[in-house]
Amino acid sequence: MEKNQNQSTVNSVRSSMLPYGQQWIDNQDIEAVVKVLRGDFITQGPTIERFESKVAEYVGAKYAVAFANGTAALHGACFAAGVGEGDEVITTPITFLASSNCVLYQSGTPVFADIDLDTYNIDPKQIELKISDDTKAIIAVDFAGQPVEIDRISMLAREHGIVLIQDAAHSLGASFAGRKIGGWADMTMFSFHPVKHVTTGEGGMIVTDNEDYYRKLLLFRNHGMTKDPNDLIENDGPWYYEMQELGYNYRITDLQAALGLSQMDKLDEFIKRRRQIVNVYNEAFSGMKGLVLPKQNPLSDSSWHLYVLRWDPRHFSADRKTIFNELRTLNIGVHVHYIPVYLQPFYRKMGYAAGLCPNAETYYQTAMTIPLFPKMKDQDIKDVIDAIKTVYSKYYAQF
Ligand SMILES: *Cc1c(COP(=O)(O)O)cnc(C)c1O
Repeated sequence: MEKNQNQSTVNSVRSSMLPYGQQWIDNQDIEAVVKVLRGDFITQGPTIERFESKVAEYVGAKYAVAFANGTAALHGACFAAGVGEGDEVITTPITFLASSNCVLYQSGTPVFADIDLDTYNIDPKQIELKISDDTKAIIAVDFAGQPVEIDRISMLAREHGIVLIQDAAHSLGASFAGRKIGGWADMTMFSFHPVKHVTTGEGGMIVTDNEDYYRKLLLFRNHGMTKDPNDLIENDGPWYYEMQELGYNYRITDLQAALGLSQMDKLDEFIKRRRQIVNVYNEAFSGMKGLVLPKQNPLSDSSWHLYVLRWDPRHFSADRKTIFNELRTLNIGVHVHYIPVYLQPFYRKMGYAAGLCPNAETYYQTAMTIPLFPKMKDQDIKDVIDAIKTVYSKYYAQF
C-alpha cells in the first residue's frame, strides 16, 4: 500500500516490468493441450503431422518437418543442404547465435556479410562479394519480421548453385512481393519460442517444396533412422529399423503440436495487433529528431517480431547504456537485438575480429528494442511512449 503511494508520485512509473515480448495463451490453447494429455499419444502421435500440415498450408509450402526447437531445425537444414567441413555458409551478424552456430554444428565455416543500415537485413551486394567456390549455402534472416530481399538473394543462389535457407524465426506470416515467407527459399525455418509469433513452448519447423530435403530432414530428426519398407537397404522382419545417417533426437511432442495448432488459429489476429501497435509507435515517434525509426522495403510486408529504435548519439547528451538503464528503471523492458555474432568470445577465438561488418557494428552501438507483443494493452503502449518521451526530453541535445 505504502509502496504504491510512493510510486504514484513518480510520474508514469509502472508497477511491473513490461517485457519486450511475451506469448498469449488462451483457454482454447489450454484445452487443446489437455485433450492430448488425456489421449493415447503425448509424443509422436498424429497431432504433429496436423500441425506440420497447417503451417505448410498457411505459408504455401509442400512439406513441413517440426523440430524440438528452431535451432535444431536450422541444424537439420544445414544437414539436408549437405554442409560439411570446408564448406562456407554466408549469413548476417545481426541475428541470434543459432543462425551461424548451426553451420558450426556441421563443421562448416560461417561467413558474415554486412547488413543494410536502412532495413538491418543482410545486404545482397555484400552476399555477392562473399561468394566463393566453397560457398555451400546462404542463411538469410528476416530481421525483426521484415523479409530480406529474397528475390535478389534467390537469384544469386540460383546463379551460383547455392542452397538458400531462410531463417524466418521472426517472420511467420510476413510476405515479400505478395508471396508468403515459406514459399521462397529452398528451406525456411520457423521458431515457436514464446516470444515469437506463435508458440509451442520450445519448437521449430522447416518448410520446403523439395522432397529430397524433406526425407533428409525426417531422418535427421529421428536418429537417422527409418522403418519405411520402401527406404530400407535390408529387411530382417517386421521389427527391423535401419540407421542410415547420423541423426539426433530432435523430435517435438504431440503436446506441443496441439498448442501450436491452436495458436495458428490466432496468428492473423496476433499479426494484426502487432501492426496496429507499430502504427501507434511510428506516429508517436515521428518527428523526434535523433530517433531512427524502422524503415521498410516497399516490397516487404513485415509481421513485426521486434520494434527497434536507434538513438543517434550526435543528438543525445547520454549514451545508449544510460538511456537503456533509465527505461528499465521506468519498468520498460527494453532489450538489444543483437550483438554481432562474430564479436562473441567463441567466434573471436576462431579468428573473427571487430571491423568485419562496419554497418552491423554501428547498428549494434545505437539500437534498442522496445516492447511489442499482441497482448499489450493500450495502457502498456502509452507507458512505453511516455517513458521514451520522458527520457528523450531529458537527454536530447541540439548540436
Ligand atoms: C529464435 C531464433 C532462432 C532459434 O529459435 P529457437 O526456437 O529459440 O531455437 C533462430 N534464429 C533467430 C533469428 C531467432 O530469433
